[in-house]
Amino acid sequence: MSIISKDISKAVTILNNEELVAIPTETVYGLAGNIYSEKAIKAIFETKKRPRFNPLIVHIPSKDHLNEIVESIPEKAKLLAETFWPGPITLVLKKQSIIPDIITAGKDTVAVRVPNHPTTIELLNQLEFPLAAPSANPFNRISPTTAEHVEGYFKNKIKMVLDGGACKKGIESTIIGFENDEPIIYRLGSTPIEAIEAVIGKIGIKNKKDIAPEAPGMLERHYAPKTKTILTDNLNKAIKAHTGKRIGVLAYSDIIDDDVIDFKIVLSEDNNLQEAASKLYDALHQLDQQNLDIIIAEQLPDYGLGKSINDRLLRATKS
Ligand code: AMP
Ligand code: MG
Repeated sequence: MSIISKDISKAVTILNNEELVAIPTETVYGLAGNIYSEKAIKAIFETKKRPRFNPLIVHIPSKDHLNEIVESIPEKAKLLAETFWPGPITLVLKKQSIIPDIITAGKDTVAVRVPNHPTTIELLNQLEFPLAAPSANPFNRISPTTAEHVEGYFKNKIKMVLDGGACKKGIESTIIGFENDEPIIYRLGSTPIEAIEAVIGKIGIKNKKDIAPEAPGMLERHYAPKTKTILTDNLNKAIKAHTGKRIGVLAYSDIIDDDVIDFKIVLSEDNNLQEAASKLYDALHQLDQQNLDIIIAEQLPDYGLGKSINDRLLRATKS
């Protein structure tokens, strides 16, 4: 029997019972549990096979709850919360002592956001506690953007996937930390850097090497298909170099009619980066199921969401 259901009250019951429910958000599906239940949080790490040093994002129903989670809120964090919540920005701030160490991997900071999905906001409003919800995929695998992706991963391991349709944004939240009250990007994501800079001015991106394992979303290999994947800025050349293999292609907008390709997906025929982002993980899921020898992914333009998508594609290619 399918574990996919739209029944919010059933999700409430399971979560109140310290068990897990996969939840829809605008970014990707999350594997959610009560942040104050050690049993639930341990189950998140075990189900995902996620290393304990990788902290979890706390989800709250509105910015009014931020004070319960964090100790102090720098001016620019306030501005970001007011501008972008509910939405795909995660703020990493000094935590209140009530936040369990297992959530933050022992750090004195906690990652928090308000997701922009009506079903999950309704769910959070019916609960007495926030939800920890990392992406609902096994560690290092492709993030899920449909209830069916989650079911494919965790059918026998969790009781329920709360169905909220396909995720509209399609890649994870942008994570922003604060060092001496100054913001810095820990992970590129669904809120483009240009939109953030329009609100708070110039912002840096933390060097990947400095940050892992601080924000393991920054670990080099992540979001990865099982099939060998390469990234190229010249599709035709890369395809020719692999003649004779079973080739899958992930293209941005070009329709390349090439007989040597076994399977191809075009992310956005209209050159629309948001459309491309929303289709990215489903495309990787599909490509990974075709028994290909290689997936050749085309680099996207390096601005806006293109930057975030290229970041994910690059991590999918690491072995
Ligand atoms: P996921 O929810 O699976 O997309 O991953 C959550 C991301 O948030 C991971 O990359 C974490 O490392 C990052 N994160 C969570 N808490 C913190 C924190 N306190 N400091 C830095 N990064 C964090
Ligand atoms: Mg993840």
